[in-house]
Order: sequence, then structure tokens, then C-alpha cells
Amino acid sequence: MTLAEFLAKLSALEGEAPGRIAGTSSLDEWTVLRNALVGRQAGEFTAIMNELGSLPKEERREAGARANAVKVALEDALEVRRAQLTAKAAESGPKLDLTMPARDRWQGTVHPVSMVIDEVVEIFRELGFTIALGPEAEHAWYNFGALNFPADHPAMDLHDTLYLGADQVLRTHTSPVQVRTLQQYPPPVRILAPGNVYRRDFFDPSHAPMFAQIEGLVVDEGISFADLKATLSHFARRYFGPHTKTRFRPSYFPFTEPSAEMDVQCGVCDGEGCAVCKHSGWIEILGSGMVHPAVLEAAGLDSEKYTGWAFGMGPARTAISRHAIPDIRILYDSDVRFLEQFGR
Ligand SMILES: [Zn+2]
Repeated sequence: MTLAEFLAKLSALEGEAPGRIAGTSSLDEWTVLRNALVGRQAGEFTAIMNELGSLPKEERREAGARANAVKVALEDALEVRRAQLTAKAAESGPKLDLTMPARDRWQGTVHPVSMVIDEVVEIFRELGFTIALGPEAEHAWYNFGALNFPADHPAMDLHDTLYLGADQVLRTHTSPVQVRTLQQYPPPVRILAPGNVYRRDFFDPSHAPMFAQIEGLVVDEGISFADLKATLSHFARRYFGPHTKTRFRPSYFPFTEPSAEMDVQCGVCDGEGCAVCKHSGWIEILGSGMVHPAVLEAAGLDSEKYTGWAFGMGPARTAISRHAIPDIRILYDSDVRFLEQFGR
């Protein structure tokens, strides 16, 4: 190849390249063209440069200088086009669709059991009760002995109670809070003690090994069964509606004497009998009774001077009959589809 031929090839490439570069309409096309022009393997410019070695030594300097100028011109033109195509791609790319519906944001809701606890606490707060709490890992004496359980009571059996050690249990009821409160504060006492309790039970549709309980306690001079009945009846009317009928049935608990369970008339059938009330017309709400003198004495109080009454209820059972929930286990599944129904 002569110098003239070499320079002619460079000029031809320099002349036609700008048109080809301007003709690319996408970044993909541009990439293909760049490789065709200045690619290291098969570029047209590279092919011309490979001929440089065949020129006589004294001509190479001039040829090289000219080739370099052409290469700079090609690269400048390519870069200008690349910037244009990049801007064009950004313009025509995916845009924000402002008409698209927003993603629903899930909001936490109050658990149906917590809802019952909150409402019960609020009603008793109006009556001057304060909240008292106690440990869930409890000394066996507070859980049983101080509450007048006889030493051979079946509740203390390993089959019913979860023992953490010889004298340590997971409390089986919130009643230990009664004794702890009476030891700490002199009467008059009006407390409500919500909290979790544990039984050695397997999950089935109506049992859970852990559940919430609400305990109430009143101790003062001259407290009678009439106070118990009036207060709990007031609670039932506030909670279930102003015309709610209640009835008290004799019952037995080691820590109260006399003891009574309170039923409210079924609000679903108005006492006619239905599936919710198991066709009895009544729904059992709570257990109650006059605090046993032995419990007052165990807490260090003079049972000749002071009397009191107490009650305990299971908010899960209340939530179940209120919402007609068929299986207690649903309450502990944490299934958002179930729980969010109570949020609106
Ligand atoms: Zn009913």
C-alpha cells in the first residue's frame, strides 16, 4: 500500500462515518456501529491502521498523525450521538403512572381479647378501681397456699399446673395478685388485675394452655355480698347493655366463701335459647365470691375487721361469645386475615 492509498482510505472513512453515526436510532445500534468503526477486533479504522506497518518507515510519521486525527474525530462524533441516544431513551422509558391505585397499607388492630380487657378495665376504673399486676412465674404459696387451697387439692397436681421448680409455678390464675396487693397496701383496696395465666392443657377448640384472666378485688370494713352483687350487675349492664339480666349461681372456689358464678341473659336470643348460649338462654361470665377469711389472714389482715369480695373472668371466653368465634385457637394464631376484621 502506498501513502496516498492509506490517506485516501482514511479520508473515505472520515467522510462517510458522520452520516452512519447520525443514522443510529438506538443505543443497541450505536454499540454495533462503534464496534464496526473503531472496534479492536474487526473495526474498519483498525483494519486501516493494520496497514501502517507496510508503509516505508519515513512515511509512517505523517500517516500516523493523520490516522490519529481521524480517530479522535470518529470518537468525538460517536460520543455526541451516544449522549443524544441516552437522553432519548430516558425520555421514552417507563414513566410514573399516577392513575395507578395505591398499595393498601396494613394497619395494626387491637386484638379481640385485648379489646375486652380494655373495656372491662375502663368500666371498673369509673368505679374507682386501680390496676394491679403480679409476676407470671409465681411462688407456689401465693398461687395456692395463701389462697386457702388444701394441701391435696387436685389443681396442684402436676397434671394441671406447670411447675418451674419445687416451689415455683407459672401462675394458674391471677388471684395471687390479691394476696400480694393486700400485703403491700392497707384497706380500702379496689383493684383490677388483668394478666396471663397458664394451665397444663392442650389446645383444643375450647381450651388453651395460656390465656388472659381479669381479677377484681375489693377489701374494706363492712363489705358485704350486696356490694358484690350490685357492682357486678352494674358491670354487666354497662358491658352488655342497660337491660341485661343477670343471675348468680352457687359455686365453689377455695379462696371465696360463699362463692357464686354470674350468668348474663343471652343477648343473641334474649333468653329463648340458641347455639351461642347452648340453648340455656344464659351465658356464664365470671366467678365471684366473698374473700375467704383464711386468705385475708394469710395476707396479714384481721378478718374480724375486714371483709371483701373478688371475681375472675376470662376475656377470651367473652370475646368468643361476643363475636361467635367457633374455635378458641383462632385467637392465638395471629392470622392477620382474622385479626384485621376487628380493626374497622
Ligand atoms: Zn342464646
